[in-house]
Amino acid sequence: MSHIIVDKDHCTGCGICVKMCSSGVISLADESNLPQVQDENTSRCLYCGHCEAFCPSQALVLNLT
Ligand code: SF4
Ligand code: SF4
Repeated sequence: MSHIIVDKDHCTGCGICVKMCSSGVISLADESNLPQVQDENTSRCLYCGHCEAFCPSQALVLNLT
């Protein structure tokens, strides 16, 4: 399961979520250019909520399930 859920229709690829992530675990690395958290890095998430709060497009939801 993906750690963050990104709405590809609303994400602009601005990279703000990458910059605002407190633990630096979000990247825009894959070919889709959507932000992601690699599975091996999910344990470093601080659940600060910055990724959701600072997305100007409300495109990102932290997956808490
Ligand atoms: S909740 Fe915080 S630490 Fe976790 S992915 Fe979002 S910005 Fe990064
Ligand atoms: S802050 Fe929002 S719009 Fe910008 S790259 Fe992240 S998810 Fe996409």
